[in-house]
Amino acid sequence: FRRQKFTEKELLDQLLKGDKTALGRGITLIESNQQKHQERAQKLVEGALPHAQKSIRIGITGVPGVGKSTFIEAFGSHLIEQGKRVAVLAVDPTSSVSKGSILGDKTRMENLVKEENAFIRPSPSGDSLGGVAKKTRESIILCEAAGFDVLLIETVGVGQSETTVHSMTDFFLLLKLAGAGDELQGIKRGIIEMADAIVINKADTGNEKAAREAKLDFKRALHLYPPKESEWTPKVLLCSALYNSGISEIWELIQEYQELVKKNNYFQHNRHEQNKFWLLQTINEYLKNRFYQNPLIKKELNDQLKAIENNETTAFAAAKYLIKKYDSL
Ligand code: GDP
Repeated sequence: FRRQKFTEKELLDQLLKGDKTALGRGITLIESNQQKHQERAQKLVEGALPHAQKSIRIGITGVPGVGKSTFIEAFGSHLIEQGKRVAVLAVDPTSSVSKGSILGDKTRMENLVKEENAFIRPSPSGDSLGGVAKKTRESIILCEAAGFDVLLIETVGVGQSETTVHSMTDFFLLLKLAGAGDELQGIKRGIIEMADAIVINKADTGNEKAAREAKLDFKRALHLYPPKESEWTPKVLLCSALYNSGISEIWELIQEYQELVKKNNYFQHNRHEQNKFWLLQTINEYLKNRFYQNPLIKKELNDQLKAIENNETTAFAAAKYLIKKYDSL
């Protein structure tokens, strides 16, 4: 039963009333790769935009098994108790329909999914990270217009997905385990540097001492980084998502952050910078695709690669030649 007959106006009106079915439909339009759906989605997003923005966008990352779903379940439920409306979105470029999404899985957030004030949506599937990012950014706008005031954007550390989520959120929360041996990995990949809070999960059932030690390790690691532009000093907290401890402290911390960055204007500044980033990113993507998908360039690129192999030209000369060729088309 498909109600394609809904005009964008009707869909937008329903959405602005906070209707979750309309929100779901809107996101389905955003996620569709069909031209006519994309056109409708564009209108919807534009209509929603003036009503969006009034939210906090929280990025949540951590390796599989760290407890993201369990955490979101506990944290989301706590937020709802505080009178918030919570939307959960996911960014996972590896998910595909056949494999089934590992993120934003509703069956793993049993209680939250039943809440009237919660909206959970798995990652759009079968797309590149760039495609998923665009869809998620637009879905954020619809969620906000539908009155969801806390957005939890979940991701696993696949490739660039953490950086992508960082560049669309206000607060970045890194979930960790004590003694998992991946501390250094996180440091190397610059993920710790992005974090506004590191939360050590599973600080329970005999794991408390190790968790406290890990807390000190991470605190020390955080000292290695220069102060943040936000003037916020990242914090390390302990929690047990399973036993619901340390959850309210995390929300208090995020509110503290929000207070600071609203006062010093970093909040708005950062959102502006993010918009600029996505504008440029989108143009770059488009231009790159135009170039590489051009049939003549495809052929010429191949020829130039062979010429380089045969020592007939250099990489730089070949690049210059190809760009010139493209410019003259
Ligand atoms: P995700 O892959 O990061 O989403 O992790 P899940 O939320 O699916 O959790 C992975 C496993 O860890 C599950 O068996 C959870 O029950 C368990 N788990 C999650 N949080 C906690 C916690 O705070 N304490 C304990 N002991 N187990 C937890």
